[in-house]
Amino acid sequence: MTSVFLKYFETAPDSKTRKCKLCGQSYSIATATGNLGRHLNNRHPGYDKASDVATTSVPHTPQVAAKPSQSHSRPPQIDYDHSLPLP
Ligand SMILES: [Zn+2]
Repeated sequence: MTSVFLKYFETAPDSKTRKCKLCGQSYSIATATGNLGRHLNNRHPGYDKASDVATTSVPHTPQVAAKPSQSHSRPPQIDYDHSLPLP
């Protein structure tokens, strides 16, 4: 299970501590992610707005509905019969 808070912490090479990427504060690997989140809230207010800006501003591209092209390849029924007798 991954917590969103873990994005802001990096695990030490020995996998025993986690370090806050923002201030370097170390926590035991056993520290509940809730506590990590509290650290972020207390020490780094607005941390969640400082990054991941790109994810919230997705440009809205109107989906142009592609018209179904008339792919029923009917043979053109234009068959001028020039042999019709003119009135
Ligand atoms: Zn910190």
